[in-house]
Amino acid sequence: MVNQLVVIGAGPAGIMASISAAQNGKKVLLIDRNKSIGQKLLLAGAGRCNLTNNIPIEEFFDKYHNGDFLRNAFSQFSNIDLMDFFESNGLKLEIERGNRVFPVTQSSQDIVVFLRQQLENHKVQLWFRNRVVGIEKQQDGIFKITTKKAEIFARSVILATGGKTYPETGSNGDGYKFTRLLGHTIVKPVPVLCGINLKETWIKQWQGISLKNIEVKTIAGGKIIGSEFGEAIFTHYGISGPAVLNLSRVIADIKNPSGIKISIDFKPAIDEKTLENRLINEFSKNSNKSLKNIMKNLLPENMIEEFLLMGTLSGSIKGNQITVEQRKILISLFKNFTLTFDSLRGFKEAIVTRGGVKLDQVNPKTMESKIVPGLFFAGEILDIDGKTGGFNLQAAFSTGFVAGKNA
Ligand SMILES: Cc1cc2nc3c(=O)[nH]c(=O)nc-3n(C[C@H](O)[C@H](O)[C@H](O)COP(=O)(O)OP(=O)(O)OC[C@H]3O[C@@H](n4cnc5c(N)ncnc54)[C@H](O)[C@@H]3O)c2cc1C
Repeated sequence: MVNQLVVIGAGPAGIMASISAAQNGKKVLLIDRNKSIGQKLLLAGAGRCNLTNNIPIEEFFDKYHNGDFLRNAFSQFSNIDLMDFFESNGLKLEIERGNRVFPVTQSSQDIVVFLRQQLENHKVQLWFRNRVVGIEKQQDGIFKITTKKAEIFARSVILATGGKTYPETGSNGDGYKFTRLLGHTIVKPVPVLCGINLKETWIKQWQGISLKNIEVKTIAGGKIIGSEFGEAIFTHYGISGPAVLNLSRVIADIKNPSGIKISIDFKPAIDEKTLENRLINEFSKNSNKSLKNIMKNLLPENMIEEFLLMGTLSGSIKGNQITVEQRKILISLFKNFTLTFDSLRGFKEAIVTRGGVKLDQVNPKTMESKIVPGLFFAGEILDIDGKTGGFNLQAAFSTGFVAGKNA
């Protein structure tokens, strides 16, 4: 038996591709190696699922690596279309800080249950626990898909096997192998949206400290190449948190990242002069207290020892003994606390993969391969990745919709 369309991978891209193809009258078989759909989706947004972003669609493109490729797909299925898909079918959404869109129930599980219901409504046939190990196009133009359990035949195939981060969710890079064997180029996959290993081993003393409203900058060759405001978290290996995740995307672009510095501004809301006045005020109010104690008004207590050590300042000097020179050192520590980049965390912990199917081999209007007619791509398997804020799921849903419509 030859299936009309086989979709491989039941993540958001494959699910939306299946629904969209079924809406266009196709009989669809959706295969996944897992025991149910959307394993990575369940983890999205720390279990709350940041589905998309409510900024105007024109502002989306520069949030991505290779964002221009998405223009046509987003004109066919935008963030508004995605929100409408959920809301008009009864799943309420809400918009939070940064225009991020979440289900009102704050539960990824509800999104997965909803999508499963949609697949059933559209009579998409599901086959789980079925790992694809090979795809070939036969002489007669029919695809032969070999799985661990069977050989399946199809007129068209949509490959939506994701990237290779969080491999325990099922996306371990299998799709790259099939794509390469079918004659495509795979741009080298690298982990992005991940934490940063730092060279300073003492950083583990700050493990667990989370700071909101700071600025983190990446400096290469003396130039600022990336800067993010927001929250950062110190870890046993270095630094992570939302502001740092986005910076990891900038670092991934650098061919030789050794020598990169990470600079933190702990007080980005005030300039150096205002900070100096604040320090002068603190030192005169607390003239008989030690610097170590005065610092408690300015930083979390468990950071103070290492912070002062970085400036070779003694915590025991009194407020009225602090010299102009020492005050300048403190200002520099607050505004430009410099740490040394070692490496990015790996695929096990990264949120998305940069790299994947080379985009000039894919038609952006249909998601069809330019090399193998009848083969389509959707989602993270493509060489596209976005910032945090719902951009990656939107890309998966939009490219899935377009692939399904055209397959
Ligand atoms: C912890 C975490 C949190 C995230 N939070 C967000 C967020 O809040 N917002 C956001 O926009 N993005 C988020 N992302 C990113 C987003 O989840 C992914 O970009 C998105 O899931 C990609 O969708 P996809 O369908 O292309 O691939 P995936 O979701 O990875 O799905 C691929 C599917 O293919 C299947 N598969 C792979 N190989 C085979 C094979 N050989 N045979 C059969 N099946 C196979 C896998 O089992 C999997 O089910 C998060 C990612 C992580 C890891």
